[in-house]
Amino acid sequence: MKPAPFRYERPTNLAEALAVRAAEPEAKVLAGGQSLIPLMSMRLSTVPVLIDINGLEELSHITVDDSGVRFGAIVRHSALLAHDGAARVQPLIAAALQHVAHATIRNRGTSVGSIVHADASGEMPMILCLTGGSLTVASTRGRREIPAADLFVGAMETSLEPDEIAVEAFMPALPARSGIAYDEVARRHGDYALCGVGAVVTHDEEGRIEHARAGFVSVSDVPEVVDLTECFPGGELDEGSLAAAGEHALERLDPEPDIHATADYRALLARTLTARVLRAADEDARARTMQKGRA
Ligand SMILES: Cc1cc2nc3c(=O)[nH]c(=O)nc-3n(C[C@H](O)[C@H](O)[C@H](O)COP(=O)(O)OP(=O)(O)OC[C@H]3O[C@@H](n4cnc5c(N)ncnc54)[C@H](O)[C@@H]3O)c2cc1C
Repeated sequence: MKPAPFRYERPTNLAEALAVRAAEPEAKVLAGGQSLIPLMSMRLSTVPVLIDINGLEELSHITVDDSGVRFGAIVRHSALLAHDGAARVQPLIAAALQHVAHATIRNRGTSVGSIVHADASGEMPMILCLTGGSLTVASTRGRREIPAADLFVGAMETSLEPDEIAVEAFMPALPARSGIAYDEVARRHGDYALCGVGAVVTHDEEGRIEHARAGFVSVSDVPEVVDLTECFPGGELDEGSLAAAGEHALERLDPEPDIHATADYRALLARTLTARVLRAADEDARARTMQKGRA
């Protein structure tokens, strides 16, 4: 199918893009087009004006320092995935991005576009929440930074105003003595996950678990992060505490059925993957601390 007729605007700088956005509240921003164009082509979305931001070179940056990773709104998934500095400072980014779709889609789709699209089956919205990141948005009225916790307000719905364009996302650095893991189950390589789970485990100076959090993909309407620290009394990780963490996560989540999986199957995946990634993140924390000690 073909999209309904639309007007196409290709501004060459952000100020111009924001002016068009302010004048056209029904307009949509075109980033990589990997979600928007299929929706328009299937006529699930009718867009009177398309504002193509791909000419805005000022939004093409990836900046890494000790505080974390910032990436602009036209940075492709593939560029962020290949960025060594980003992988070093916040390794969850690369761990999750390698599961996003196929290489061809990653070459065009943007990580900020994925966050704004706010599909709870997407990896990057959850990673923004799990890292405690934020999204910077701009309009002709100015700029504001939206913490991940205030961004995802409903199924594929964000707190962006109609005249705003997302310009940059920020993901804080992995804290000291911490490790990460991400894993998911999909029917075929490159498909959206039936369930995905990411974890961050932080140790105290004696190597006991001080904090443990997990983030969930494809289990609810919005990306969910659950604090699982209380499941590791005394900071010990064993089969019992891992099983407790899976159960605790499920008390907070309400896995939903769809044409791909029943609610029970999703719950089983969430429980199993939670234990798996927590164990892996705990090992990763140990390995990173040892490596740092040797350096
Ligand atoms: C076959 C297939 C498989 C896929 N599998 C996965 C997967 O496994 N995991 C996954 O996470 N994703 C998957 N995707 C989606 C892919 O990651 C997209 O790249 C992503 O969801 C959207 O990014 P985009 O740059 O293409 O955004 P677009 O399609 O251009 O835009 C998406 C939406 O966000 C809005 N938008 C985009 N950028 C901005 C901005 N800067 N400011 C304001 N609004 C903006 C648009 O107006 C639109 O509403 C898949 C896509 C396809 C086609």
